[in-house]
Amino acid sequence: MAFFSNFKEKVSGFAQNAAQKSGEVVEVTKLNISINTEEEGIKELYCELGEYCFKKFINGDESDSTVIGFCEKIKIHQENIKYLKERINEIKNIVICSSCGNSVLKTNEFCGKCGAKVEAEAEVAEEMVEEADPKKNSADEHGQNAE
Ligand SMILES: [Zn+2]
Repeated sequence: MAFFSNFKEKVSGFAQNAAQKSGEVVEVTKLNISINTEEEGIKELYCELGEYCFKKFINGDESDSTVIGFCEKIKIHQENIKYLKERINEIKNIVICSSCGNSVLKTNEFCGKCGAKVEAEAEVAEEMVEEADPKKNSADEHGQNAE
């Protein structure tokens, strides 16, 4: 009943002035912004809730199989991110300092942040060994030393 009376009022008031209409538009826009703010708040809390569950999972809580499913997907994403970051470091010729986690150029001998000696990763070292052929080099050096 209320719907019909409201509807009739709206139809009869069709010629209402423009100022009133723009006032309504502003009001609706404000309300929509408020709705968006509330929805953003919910999304943030969903995130925090998820993080809380993930931390529980990492600490060994495997009581909820649905939570485990989500957590395992997160772990895959984390692994992918780790791999992608490593690829970027390869391209930029950067190694991660093993003592402080700082990004250091492979060409640097020491970490600029903590001063630890920069050591190339095992894979990279192997590649370099193959290219340089260390047996020949050491033999040459030995020969030079002997002379
Ligand atoms: Zn360091």
